[in-house]
Amino acid sequence: DLTKQVIEEMQKDDQPNFLITLPTDDMLRYAQYLDQNFDPNNLLYGIPYVAKDNFSTKNIRTTAGSKILSNYIPNFNATIVELLNQNQAMMAGKVTLDELGMGGTGLHSAYGEISNPYDQKRQIGGSSSGSVYAVAKGLVPFSLGTDTGDSIRKPASYVGIVGFKPTYGAISRYGVIPYAPSLDHAGFFTRNVDDMALIADVTFKKDDKDFTSFETRDQDFLKDINDLKPTTKFAYLKEVQEHLPEKIKRKYEQLFNKLKAKGYEVNEVSFDLDLLNTINPVYMMISYPEAISSHANLSGMGFGMRAEGENYAQIMINSRSKYLGEIVKRRFVIGSLNLKQENQDLYFLKAKRVRRLIANALNDILASDDILILPPSFQPAPLIETALEDDEKADSDFLHDILVMGNFAGIPSITIPFTTEEAMPIGINLNAGVYQDKKLLQAAKVLED
Ligand code: GLN
Repeated sequence: DLTKQVIEEMQKDDQPNFLITLPTDDMLRYAQYLDQNFDPNNLLYGIPYVAKDNFSTKNIRTTAGSKILSNYIPNFNATIVELLNQNQAMMAGKVTLDELGMGGTGLHSAYGEISNPYDQKRQIGGSSSGSVYAVAKGLVPFSLGTDTGDSIRKPASYVGIVGFKPTYGAISRYGVIPYAPSLDHAGFFTRNVDDMALIADVTFKKDDKDFTSFETRDQDFLKDINDLKPTTKFAYLKEVQEHLPEKIKRKYEQLFNKLKAKGYEVNEVSFDLDLLNTINPVYMMISYPEAISSHANLSGMGFGMRAEGENYAQIMINSRSKYLGEIVKRRFVIGSLNLKQENQDLYFLKAKRVRRLIANALNDILASDDILILPPSFQPAPLIETALEDDEKADSDFLHDILVMGNFAGIPSITIPFTTEEAMPIGINLNAGVYQDKKLLQAAKVLED
């Protein structure tokens, strides 16, 4: 009944573009079956959620926000979806995203734009736009997202919800349509940290189908959520703090004082400014080549939409020209160029070396301090008319892309609600060393209170 009600509400919503596909009758029959098999010990029993439409769902269309996959119906579930099924949560819909996870605005899905529910003149952010939307509107208590640069943690900030990207490999990515595999993380949105801990409890599992996945040492996320060690050390970056707009800077200072008053150590640490300024170009030089390589199969041949053509090359060119959006095309072109033999060393391999430097510097900080605090955004959600794509702001402020460091290093990272500016929510982001997901959630819980 709850799932039915959620579906009705989603269909009546004033921004219907957020929803791409509803569950099939099979799923609804499963809900009826669950009704008769109530398990009172299962906290997820019957809880409806929505999935970003790049999570494969058996017998349910999975478009990844692209026209090229508009007729793609997987015959298997992504492992995360499977685990949630086993725990009797109810998938209530597949929701929109910037095409193939590329973008950060919610304006670049082949299935229409959506905007920020708090102010429709503003962006909701992306690429996990639909997942953010559904939780921010209170339509569902949690949703699935993916994060290659910041696509969970930045839009969560724009609508004041919790967005979590676990350690690379801690949860399975099997069945998630990739963007850039060495940076791609799956993750979740909720309205509070306790709910996030509950989802972590059922999804942190090694999956033999995903060769990057590992056996997590952490368990009992929810049970131990209030047990952050009093000796936990927090840190923030001097260069970032100096760069923040005055008003926000003061709010961060107040927060640091509050943490100190609670007895925690808070340290100012330094990060090489030159390295910070490379984040965006390095991200582009790594993610675009990985994107063109992992999407070699979007050729119009094996599956997905096919345009006319006399031979393989023509079919591929015509299918991609017709069924891919501008951002994806641009990234594919730049990515291919970077992978050309003569350019590899100059761009792709060099970018990988700089990525390692950034990850090392970050890991050094997280080896001595437990939690690094970063601003997921230093302004409320930007206006739609000022939307810049990530590759259009290559020379802009490093603060735009600061969270991408977390993907370079594969560390766990979470955004939680923090404050408001111009009557809009704005979040705060916390990071911990690899495998320290539990400590990260515990710290988030302290800051949430
Ligand atoms: N906004 C970034 C981009 O456009 C991040 C995307 C992501 O994390 N999927 O690439």
